[in-house]
Amino acid sequence: MSPGLKRKAVSLAQIKKEIDHNKTKESVSKDYLDFQLDLIRTQYKNRRKLTKSIVYPKLSADTVKERLKEGFYLVDFPRIKVSRKVLDDTFKDVCSVIEKYDTLESGELERLKAKEASGELPLRDLIENIIAKNKEYFERLSGKLEIKKEALVFIAENLVRPLLILEAQRLQGKIKDDIWLRNYCPICGNEPRMVRLERETGRRILECSLCYTQWVFKILECPFCGNNDQKTLRFFFLENDIPHRVDVCDKCKRYIKTLDERKLEEGKEAILRVEDIATIHLDMLAEREGYKVTQ
Ligand SMILES: [Zn+2]
Ligand SMILES: [Zn+2]
Repeated sequence: MSPGLKRKAVSLAQIKKEIDHNKTKESVSKDYLDFQLDLIRTQYKNRRKLTKSIVYPKLSADTVKERLKEGFYLVDFPRIKVSRKVLDDTFKDVCSVIEKYDTLESGELERLKAKEASGELPLRDLIENIIAKNKEYFERLSGKLEIKKEALVFIAENLVRPLLILEAQRLQGKIKDDIWLRNYCPICGNEPRMVRLERETGRRILECSLCYTQWVFKILECPFCGNNDQKTLRFFFLENDIPHRVDVCDKCKRYIKTLDERKLEEGKEAILRVEDIATIHLDMLAEREGYKVTQ
């Protein structure tokens, strides 16, 4: 059996420290790092209220084992009860960040707020559909509300993250690393966003794009399409940024960024979600080469 993964909860203070550290680099703008930090703050801000108000369905150890064995992820969102007030508060917080950094097209934020107030943008539906990866829902809603699909997805992702992070912390201790080698998150079913090659073992560990759960994956396989033909799997890196590399798949034309912990200085522990934010220049490079981060 493979050794279990170290799964430590990351505090806001640790994230802030890591983000501040990255501000010394030229490859990413300070404004972008501040924007991301403020977004992360929204995940932590309502956590206490959320913990009090949320009711998760009970899952016995046997059910967990059975579901994972069959390839079913664990979150059962329709059965999660969460107060409307907490969702509203998180929505307002995310809107304030958008406003502060002016990240949407003119008029779009006002439309978002107005549609939410009128009930045409039901927050619970947004999160149910982001978990279900229901692209058509977002396309339809985008047309109906005249708000870009990307903006709706952004709101949905930032609403659901605090809920999923809490649920992930509750459940991930129950995941045995040798029974989940799939290309989607064992907790929420979403795609990986970052990879790390574990310092001690060289194992390839994926991190979920939504709830930050980590799980072990196969070394020589595309985590999106399952391609394992080594002639069409490559990676590239920048000379001045050795610990990071970009794995690309020429079959599905997608990429994922990897942090090789063995190339970090001794004792340094990186936070993958911060590594992701701080390597946006690699996303730009990959996209310029014709690879995509999402489908
Ligand atoms: Zn997840
Ligand atoms: Zn692929």
